[in-house]
Amino acid sequence: MLLTITTTHNPASDLSFLLHKHPGRTQQVETSGGVAHIFYPEVSDARCTAALLLDIDPVGLVRRDGGSSGNDFALQQYVNDRPYVASSFMSAAIAKAFSSALNGSCKTRPELLSVQMPFEVRLPVLPVRGGLPLLEQLFAPLGYSIKAQRLQLDEQFPDWGESRYFDVTLRHTLTLQTLLSHLYILIPVCDNDKHYWIGKHEVDKLMEKGGAWLDKHPAREVIASRYLKNQKGLISDALQLLLQDETAEVEAIAEAATPKLRAHDERLLQVKNELLATGAKRIGDLGCGEGKLLKLLMAETQFVFILGMDVSYRSLEIAQRKLKPDRQHHPDRVQLVQGALTYRDSRLAGLDAVALVEVIEHLDEPRLSALEKVVFAYARPGHVIVTTPNAEYNVLFETLSEGTMRHSDHRFEWTRAQFQAWGNALAATYGYTVSYKSIGEEKENIGALTQMAIFKRST
Ligand code: SAH
Repeated sequence: MLLTITTTHNPASDLSFLLHKHPGRTQQVETSGGVAHIFYPEVSDARCTAALLLDIDPVGLVRRDGGSSGNDFALQQYVNDRPYVASSFMSAAIAKAFSSALNGSCKTRPELLSVQMPFEVRLPVLPVRGGLPLLEQLFAPLGYSIKAQRLQLDEQFPDWGESRYFDVTLRHTLTLQTLLSHLYILIPVCDNDKHYWIGKHEVDKLMEKGGAWLDKHPAREVIASRYLKNQKGLISDALQLLLQDETAEVEAIAEAATPKLRAHDERLLQVKNELLATGAKRIGDLGCGEGKLLKLLMAETQFVFILGMDVSYRSLEIAQRKLKPDRQHHPDRVQLVQGALTYRDSRLAGLDAVALVEVIEHLDEPRLSALEKVVFAYARPGHVIVTTPNAEYNVLFETLSEGTMRHSDHRFEWTRAQFQAWGNALAATYGYTVSYKSIGEEKENIGALTQMAIFKRST
């Protein structure tokens, strides 16, 4: 696969400063898909072209993959996914070869970062499922002019018909960083189809990469869905695949694509504020998942001890990685433990407040009552904060058909009345008082996306 980036910005050689690649040399970087070569087919004051040639190494690919997951699985993965794997690897190669440019850093000439340059990008063989209309849908709203020609399957045999490969030229005047972030996300998106269900965490990660432009893109739903499906295709660790259902909080793309994109962040922020308001010093995040809330909580000095518990080892590993830098400074302040909330656990004793964010709906009825006992009878913290989806809100998700839930692992989703009936009974049984709040924008007769109960121990 080949990508060339040409500019006529004057002096055109500024491009090489921004790319951190010397125009007189050919350089190689190892990427996950094979070796990427970076070179300049033309350098003059008037025009400069940088080329990224990715030499996909199919054998190495399978071998590398096989190391972690067993050969059969990896091989099957590779054969099945070969077409979009190719464009994903191009995207990975962009990130590796041009990492500083993509991250907006240029030590030698920082003033160049904000310069908008006229660019011409050529992808002579880009797989595109969806043809010209898709290319238009993806690139036109960002301001590109697009030239694309569909390639024949084999020039020698025109009867074989046309391939889904296009020779694409894109033109636009913008900063190099923005250009690269567009290519990084949209190249693999071209080569995918079908919507699929994705995790909210994944969407958040993607939004970080895409930043402002992706948030505002009219086709952001298509982009998020295709991009993330593609990444799923690349997950080669069989175990990871098996565990995924259990670990990831997966909500419908419908939710992800609405302006509620940051709904989860809003939820976590509100929970953090409630925890602060209780005056608690020793707190627990039960069902902490990948540690997003923990990260927020750690920033608050009020919390002298923070316990994160989850049943999923894989999620805890991710959390551990995420929190590592902070944990080094205060090794005892944050503890991550694996445990099931349905079993009495002495590690939960002595906490002032705990949060259960989007956890209860993952438990079926008998396990939920076990959890209630563990939290309210045995651990008995001063405050318990519980959030769960408000089922009434689901009518606002276009792609969620009536009567279905936001995530296949949800055992139930309650209306506000159901949640409050549950909460009131629980509070009465265990000697707590309870109040309820909404998280997210309130809609008439429907409520908000998320409902929250705040329990306070009264006895
Ligand atoms: N609180 C996190 C994760 C919510 S997803 C967030 O809001 O981002 C639900 C989490 O509950 C998952 O991480 C899952 O592993 C965990 N979980 C489900 N059942 C559990 C149980 N019985 N004990 C402990 N954790 C459980």
